[in-house]
Amino acid sequence: MPYSWKEKVRFIEPYIPGEQPESRVIKLNTNENPYPPAPCVIKAIREFDLESLRFYPSAESDPLREAFAKYYSLDKDNIFIANGSDDVLALSFLSFFYSDLPVFFPDVTYSFYKVWCALFNIPFELKELSADFKINVTDYYGENGGVVIANPNAPTAIPLNLAEVEDIVSHNLSSVVILDEAYAGFGCESAMGLIKKYDNLLIVQTFSKSRSLAGMRIGAAFGNKELIAVLSAVKNSYNSYPVNKLSQAAAEASLNDAAYFAETTAKVIKTRTFAAEELKKLGFTVTESETNFLFAEHEKISASSIKNYLESKNIYVRFFNAPRINNHLRITIGTDEEMEALIRELKSFLP
Ligand code: PMP
Repeated sequence: MPYSWKEKVRFIEPYIPGEQPESRVIKLNTNENPYPPAPCVIKAIREFDLESLRFYPSAESDPLREAFAKYYSLDKDNIFIANGSDDVLALSFLSFFYSDLPVFFPDVTYSFYKVWCALFNIPFELKELSADFKINVTDYYGENGGVVIANPNAPTAIPLNLAEVEDIVSHNLSSVVILDEAYAGFGCESAMGLIKKYDNLLIVQTFSKSRSLAGMRIGAAFGNKELIAVLSAVKNSYNSYPVNKLSQAAAEASLNDAAYFAETTAKVIKTRTFAAEELKKLGFTVTESETNFLFAEHEKISASSIKNYLESKNIYVRFFNAPRINNHLRITIGTDEEMEALIRELKSFLP
């Protein structure tokens, strides 16, 4: 056939998420929370007015923004909601990285950043992490089209402290700095206090990790009103109603259960300390983590063979076949029992 539609369509290398196996496995591969959503979230979903689903949801998720405004002592106009933080981040890249200058981000970070740059034709420049995977803040001082930093970084798990975050933001007053706080809640200090001080800072958070709502797909951004207005206009040029009514109700309820949030995040942190110690005893190097996962490399056995062995035992962990990190595993913190099962299997496999 002489003609083909293939010359006119978009071929792109996508982000590849961790597997979602159907069978019951110990799932430590996508940084989900091992604990269920808060009881008041489950109640809100059970009692949700299903007949109201014939109406469109609030386009800007207004009741949820109002709840967030109270929660963080902000104005509703400082808050943006979309369909998971991936959606928030994609719309933020589209909105704020709109110059010919390269956007700066680390060479080892959330691999979706590169994919959005490719999708939206955004030039970028990778800043190499140190040999021990640390971000050097001075790498982000030069002229750029924007900066995006995950804090803590992923998959390295390593946090920047607040002074380091502020250093990057204050050296980039003529660019937007996106701070991806997907793993907020597991010990790392949030930079939320800085958004009143810096009009170039956009903080992105999610309900998927510390709030146990990955399946509901809700993400949020916080920033100066003008930034949020730009983001909202781009969203409204693409999809008026990105967040369904049920998700909005679940997220709103989740903000009302501070005690459950404190209890479950503390449990994850305690299990993280135990799991990191056990892995070290087995010959792993483990980075400092303020997330719900560990980033670990074994002194003798390759990450891919450990991953394959664990999978044969129905334990799923994440392996990235990417430069610099292809001998590391990213292991989500599960329950104590799940981590004990992981350690047991590793003991029987490792020399
Ligand atoms: N940012 C980082 C650093 C992540 O690891 C993830 C989870 N894959 C996300 C954002 C997106 O999370 P979600 O879309 O579930 O909010």
